[in-house]
Amino acid sequence: MERLRVDAAALDEYAEYRRIVGDDDGGKLFTPEEYEEYKRKVLPIRLQNRLYVSWRSPSGMDCKLVGPETLCFCTHRYKQHKTDYEVIPEDRPICVPCRVSRCPCQSYHYVPLNGTQPIRCRCKHFADQHSAAPGFSCNSCSKCSGFHSCFTCACGQPTYAHETVVETKQERLAQGKPVGQDVPYAAMGGLTGFSSLAEGYMRLDDSGIGAPSAELLESPITSMDHPFLKAFQGPSSSAQTVSQIAGTSSATGQVSHGKHSEDDDMAYFEKRYQERLKKEKAAKRKEKSPVPSKKPLD
Ligand SMILES: [Zn+2]
Ligand SMILES: [Zn+2]
Ligand SMILES: [Zn+2]
Ligand SMILES: [Zn+2]
Ligand SMILES: [Zn+2]
Repeated sequence: MERLRVDAAALDEYAEYRRIVGDDDGGKLFTPEEYEEYKRKVLPIRLQNRLYVSWRSPSGMDCKLVGPETLCFCTHRYKQHKTDYEVIPEDRPICVPCRVSRCPCQSYHYVPLNGTQPIRCRCKHFADQHSAAPGFSCNSCSKCSGFHSCFTCACGQPTYAHETVVETKQERLAQGKPVGQDVPYAAMGGLTGFSSLAEGYMRLDDSGIGAPSAELLESPITSMDHPFLKAFQGPSSSAQTVSQIAGTSSATGQVSHGKHSEDDDMAYFEKRYQERLKKEKAAKRKEKSPVPSKKPLD
């Protein structure tokens, strides 16, 4: 029983490690010291320079918020692209090239699916039959002048009228678009309000333009109530657990790594988000719990 609980906690730590490190360890698990060093170096950059990626309709609505597992036109996931920038490029659009070796993709480009099926180009060939190199020419015919799909999005506009937008926090704030809370995870792209997806997407993201609520500002900052701070805090025993579980997993094959889906993403971030809300609420209750009032002495 005790052992089971320990393993579950270790798996949780491992999942957290993966969300933060992604593939940046090159397939060889960081030592606890390397992990701490990585967080010290990368997390402030990630906080400062996060890029928000969405697929925008001509009306300005973000029809798709790109997350770590969202597929690119090049068939690789967003997290396989270069998503951390020490310095944000001055040029617009900002390019987010694919890091998979020999992939010609020069910048992340979202393409919707028709259910679970790839959509078709006007040349009748599927999206993945086209080259991911600029121009998106068709590999299966010579009449195609570059991928162009009339597949209709839920917003009523055709795919070709949308564009993949990569923007900074400041650029989103300037348009009144949600930016959510800062998180330490890699390749978060456009994901902002985790709790909002189930209830109809970002419309209900109460992070609004990103200003924390007064309540949040007034509450004392602890390492528990902010996932960024929590991940950024000093050396902990958790790194040790991570190497243990990863050691185990490499013997038995990979544990979940590389098999994530977008649904897994949402489940994971939602869980973390709810945990944090619960802690905040508990902390509030504690503060508000009635202090025995002093009876006037006279
Ligand atoms: Zn690629
Ligand atoms: Zn790509
Ligand atoms: Zn085509
Ligand atoms: Zn074609
Ligand atoms: Zn749309």
